[in-house]
This record gives sequence, C-alpha cells and structure tokens, in this order.
Amino acid sequence: MSFIAKSPWILHYDGSSCNGCDIETLACLTPVYDIERFGVINTGNPKHADILIVTGSVNHQNRDVLLNIYNQMPDPKAVIAVGICAITGGIFAECYNVLGGVDKVLPVDIYVPGCAARPEAIIDGIVKAIGILEMKHQNMRIKSKWRLRWPWKSELKFSY
Ligand code: SF4
Repeated sequence: MSFIAKSPWILHYDGSSCNGCDIETLACLTPVYDIERFGVINTGNPKHADILIVTGSVNHQNRDVLLNIYNQMPDPKAVIAVGICAITGGIFAECYNVLGGVDKVLPVDIYVPGCAARPEAIIDGIVKAIGILEMKHQNMRIKSKWRLRWPWKSELKFSY
C-alpha cells in the first residue's frame, strides 16, 4: 500500500448544485461520519489534492474552472461525481446553459448516485477512489521503470 492510499487528500468543487449534495459531502467531514480518522483530509488547494469530488452539473461558466482545477492536481488523481446532477445533469439537464454531467469535461472514475447522495455512499465512493489511485500509482511506477530501462520503447501505451 502506497502513501496515497493511506492518506488521500480530497478537494470538493461545487459545480452548480442545489447544495443538497454539498451538505452531504461536508457531512462526511463532520464528527458524525468523520472520514479524517481514515486519513482523508479536505484541502482547498488543487496542488495538494489526490481526489476531486464534484457536485452539481457542468455548465458553460464552470467548465473552464473545473478543467483548471483538474489540471493543477498532481498525478495520480481520481475524480468522483457525486449526485445525479454531477452524473447526468439531473433535473438541470435541460437548462439552456447546462452541458451535462462531469464526464462531459473530465474523466470520471467513480459515480456516486443519489439525490442527494448519502454520506455513506460518498464514503464508499472515496474508498473505491483510493483503490483506483493505488492502481494508477502502481502503473505510473511501472511506466517510469520501463522508460528508464528501455527509453527507446517509451512510446508504449499504458492504460490507467
Ligand atoms: S443530485 Fe439532487 S441534491 Fe444533489 S445537487 Fe442535484 S438536485 Fe441537488
């Protein structure tokens, strides 16, 4: 188990939610659910974050913000779409300014359904994201070892 799996840092971004999923996400951090006891820490800095949690749908205004945040996060990283709005656009899907779910802009690793998503489901999503982070980390290590040993084969594609 790598250091990432032991203490992943999360960053929460509210796209354009009704705040229902935000409250449930924040509930995970309160003493009732207290995910910090598992080493999960909430950060406001994308450069420190391993997991991006997005609530609400993507629209024309927040698309670039979301991309900017994601691009600042170091690899390996995972994205969790929390709530039906973040998955498909939900009840806002037909709005003139809404593009849809988070996967219209970013590669989403975990989908947590619900309206609003329950804290237990969000914690479950974070645990699954930790497994994905660990897998991506292992793949990155293999890839860098391969490049060191056989640099002329660096065009070899790895999927992670
Ligand atoms: S999924 Fe439901 S609770 Fe969550 S942001 Fe959308 S409308 Fe609000």
